[in-house]
Amino acid sequence: MNLRSVLAGAWTRIALASCAALLSAVPGQAQMTALVGGTVVDVTDGRSIPNAVVLVDGERITAVGSRSDVAVPAGAETVDMTGKWLTPGLMNMHVHLDLNLPGESHVYNETPDARALRMLDNAQKSLAVGVTTLRLTGATGGADFAVKQAIDSGVFPGPRIHTAGESIVPTGGHGRTEANGPYEFAKAVREQIKAGATWIKLGISGGISDVRGAIGASPFTDEELQTAIEVAHRNGVKVTGHTGSPVASKVAIEAGIDAFEHGYFFTPEVLDLMVENGTWYVPTIVVSQEGALEFYRKIGSPDWYLARQASVGKVHWQTLQNAIAAGVNIALGSDQYPFEPNSGTNATVAEAELYRDAGMSDLEALQAATIEPARMLEVDDEVGLIAPGFYADIVAMDADPLADIGALRSIDFVMKGGEVFRSEP
Ligand SMILES: [Zn+2]
Repeated sequence: MNLRSVLAGAWTRIALASCAALLSAVPGQAQMTALVGGTVVDVTDGRSIPNAVVLVDGERITAVGSRSDVAVPAGAETVDMTGKWLTPGLMNMHVHLDLNLPGESHVYNETPDARALRMLDNAQKSLAVGVTTLRLTGATGGADFAVKQAIDSGVFPGPRIHTAGESIVPTGGHGRTEANGPYEFAKAVREQIKAGATWIKLGISGGISDVRGAIGASPFTDEELQTAIEVAHRNGVKVTGHTGSPVASKVAIEAGIDAFEHGYFFTPEVLDLMVENGTWYVPTIVVSQEGALEFYRKIGSPDWYLARQASVGKVHWQTLQNAIAAGVNIALGSDQYPFEPNSGTNATVAEAELYRDAGMSDLEALQAATIEPARMLEVDDEVGLIAPGFYADIVAMDADPLADIGALRSIDFVMKGGEVFRSEP
């Protein structure tokens, strides 16, 4: 889908909405939609309601139940969901809409305006595969705030965006904004929050894409890490750490960090501390596994990058298995674009399938893609469930995801906030 078709689609929807408003101009009565005849999956306990009705009034769900219990009001627009399974929209918690990796396809000298347009296009492609909420874990130059604003205000369709703004690191670290010493970290954190960040992302270890330095490096001083986390928390903002270092992870947990990204390597001690402290883990397992190779080849990744990816892959997989067995809180994140082709599907679905392969049940993998991220973001009273009062963020697919999480591959209907963004017969 290109930007032009999305724009055309947006205008068509606006035009149709205005006509519908004129035709049914009953004061105080918003347009109602009824999704009828599908099987609604309750992701809290894995029960499902066959032959169900989901009533949507404006942005929100007003009723969910079996067809015999929930009447479809006269005048409601009905969408036939016979043969479909309905789940909450997917949530991808580790996304860079402005991804720009080493290799032939690296974008040089991209202006902030061009970047914003690229990010908006990528946001809409993410929504099209069923990702109705995403969290940005490190963007560049503030374009993320502009894209979020444009979507939230209804100017453009797109997923709900939570963003950490620019990631903050010690000079030479794995991230964008550099700081040194506790005072500079305090300032850097405050600046991102002032710009609109609702998370803070710290690069507490090295990364796969770093030209120099080890992934296991732990470049923050304890005082810098403690200050950055304290200042964020004093502003009511949660903190996540990019980590491949058990040393940095341990210090960060003791300083009260809320989440970790990648976790290429967690020792049993760190995993125990994470369980004890309720620390979230966003694995991004797809980036270190074979399914990502087609992407790395496509962008012309250099040999050193591919070698690093392969060597990290084995220990990353073992860490994921250990984290699942230990009962760590896990929220799905892909690091790749949510829609990036991977293993015959997209990176979001491939990530969920790998959780199942690493030890989760199909229900747990579905929870990691829906209700668990909602809990991590503390928006679990609004998204992540198909229930009355929640935003109508709903996807539909051709098979039962509780029998096989791979059913997410067949998503062909996407509704966000009561608006149908994608609907294929
Ligand atoms: Zn990342």
